Amino acid sequence: MHKALFWEKEGQSVRCRLCPHQCLVPDGSSGICRVRHNHEGELYARSWGILPALALDPVEKKPFARFHPGAFILSAGFYGCNMRCLFCQNWSISQSGSPSPDGDPWSGAGDIVSPEALVRTALDMKKHGNIGIAFTYSEPLVNIEFILETAPLARKEGLLVAVVTNGYINEDALSVLLPHVDAFNIDLKAFSESFYRDLCGASLSPVLQTITAAHSRAHVELTTLVIPGHNDSEDEIDALSSWIASLSADIPLHLNRHHPDYRMTDVPPVELDRLAALARIARTHLSCVHNGNIN
Ligand code: SF4
Repeated sequence: MHKALFWEKEGQSVRCRLCPHQCLVPDGSSGICRVRHNHEGELYARSWGILPALALDPVEKKPFARFHPGAFILSAGFYGCNMRCLFCQNWSISQSGSPSPDGDPWSGAGDIVSPEALVRTALDMKKHGNIGIAFTYSEPLVNIEFILETAPLARKEGLLVAVVTNGYINEDALSVLLPHVDAFNIDLKAFSESFYRDLCGASLSPVLQTITAAHSRAHVELTTLVIPGHNDSEDEIDALSSWIASLSADIPLHLNRHHPDYRMTDVPPVELDRLAALARIARTHLSCVHNGNIN
């Protein structure tokens, strides 16, 4: 097992300091993300190097609009997430922490890929237009140890490193990560604390702090999955895009449609003309607003 970073002992339990949940994890248990596990008083990154998703994707699928358009990027996804979004579009891996429920929950979860092997694969993919490695699909930052080991190796070989994240990470851990990442796409799921609390089991303000810090060090684009009746009011999109513009009017914003999934199968995708109207509102503040239909 791979030892985790960003935690401290509290009696027989450990306190994880990676994300704002700050889970107190008893011996034999995992935190909310299901992948950081207390084994005999030490915190381990149980899904280190286990990549249930690996594909060469167009950068536009991450999505990036202004980061090497037309290129491809090797995209790797881990198990686990520190949010519980009812509308999760990748729930089969993000909400899974027990790939093999018999005995050791991680036995049979998949082969362990080393950072060196992932970098070798990325280099091999250069002949297909690959520019680097993107950590994406679920929530990569709950597996931050693997990224911190892989990113320096990748960049030493001339590869770029991208992270597609919900932005729910504590400042100290983020400051360790930032020097190793070229580009972020960060979800800005809504612009209300109630949305983050009720639909995601999280909070908005740490995400805003992450966006602000990441923007000062790396290329940043943002994604909002528009969900009818929950985050699609004109006022909300106006406030959200106005806040982004207070950092920079040139930060790209992707306003995407959700597809009914996971625990929110009763809400249909936003109508395209409604999405276009919301994009027009966002464009009163921002220079680059994209409508995407696939998430
Ligand atoms: S990373 Fe996981 S274990 Fe750590 S505080 Fe966040 S949810 Fe809890």
